[in-house]
Amino acid sequence: MSWDTTRSTSSAARVGAHEARQRLEHERNARLAQLRALKDTEGAGQEADDLLSAQRGAVGRALKEIEAAFARLEEGTYGLCRECSRPIPVERLEILPYASACVPCQQRAG
Ligand SMILES: [Zn+2]
Repeated sequence: MSWDTTRSTSSAARVGAHEARQRLEHERNARLAQLRALKDTEGAGQEADDLLSAQRGAVGRALKEIEAAFARLEEGTYGLCRECSRPIPVERLEILPYASACVPCQQRAG
């Protein structure tokens, strides 16, 4: 654990591309599993369907952001804020591997 901390502070706080890709793939698989689970609960009535479509929308948006993060990984801009171009803190990327903006910029964007 301490070894990891030392490494990430010394290397300009950029997440390694390999590690980032693994995290993104994990996230994508989790979202796809969620979509499948939502499909299984279809047909439980109008109210449930409304809730389902809202959830599907949210999962779909997350999947789009994950795809965009993969593209940034290819471009070499992964982990950089799309607004201020500063590196997104590693701690934030650990929580949200497909984050495209740092916290202050994300909050400004609403
Ligand atoms: Zn920013």
